[in-house]
Amino acid sequence: MPSHTKIERGSLAIVGIGPGRREYMTPRALKVIAVADYVIGNASYLDPLEPLLTGKTVIRSSMGKEVERAQQAIDLAKSHAVAIVSGGDAGVYGMAGIVLEVLEHSGADIDVEVIPGVTAANAAASRVGSPLSGDFAVISLSDLLTPLEVIEKRLDAVFSVGIPVVLYNPKSQGRPHNFLLAIEHARKYLGPETPLAVVRNALRDDEEVIITTIAGAEKIQDTVDMHTTVIIGGKESRIWRRGDDVKGIITPRGYQHKYVY
Ligand code: SAH
Repeated sequence: MPSHTKIERGSLAIVGIGPGRREYMTPRALKVIAVADYVIGNASYLDPLEPLLTGKTVIRSSMGKEVERAQQAIDLAKSHAVAIVSGGDAGVYGMAGIVLEVLEHSGADIDVEVIPGVTAANAAASRVGSPLSGDFAVISLSDLLTPLEVIEKRLDAVFSVGIPVVLYNPKSQGRPHNFLLAIEHARKYLGPETPLAVVRNALRDDEEVIITTIAGAEKIQDTVDMHTTVIIGGKESRIWRRGDDVKGIITPRGYQHKYVY
């Protein structure tokens, strides 16, 4: 796939639009939306883009209709410039995978470009210091497409090596217990003082940030929902304080072993 496909009729852009406010979108994402004839996506992603959508045909689709949305985008992209938008990065629990799978299966000869966006892990981390400075893992607690026992195995694997873990889709009405279930797995390998951050609506106007430890997980569990990203520190992570104020989380990358500062 060419890295910078020419923008023209009969093309498909799969666009990561970042975590929320428009200033966190890339110029490339703004450009392909500006030249698109059709913009397709979930209503919650399209509403904030409204000022960019004048004169375009906008197709709002709902959660759970990803396959239909992918098929429709591919059909339209045979003769139009189509942008299919996805929150955060389109390749991280987003639309890129399913669109490319459907495209591969259809055999259609369409120019495709995947445009990266700031994913929730980076957005949330940026609000709490530098918790993901080195290796880290990302796990989704949604068991819609992955069985819960597989998710639990993955949680054990990543917590056992002591690296920070980012949890996407940490809780919903359909699966209210998955967040505390993940914390139970964390407690098998990590001490109670391990930092825990909950970032709700990162880089959106109604952002909420909580920094606590895994010992405090039960107390803050009501803040955790589908608009939340959870970061559980690793063995090296610590809470960063200034006086009595909690400023964030730092996971040292190892400079302290080589340099004096
Ligand atoms: N493609 C998206 C992720 C989609 S999965 C991305 O790259 O960010 C949906 C999950 O992402 C949510 O349940 C939540 O855990 C997380 N998420 C997405 N946007 C977020 C935001 N602005 N703040 C906090 N979490 C967010």
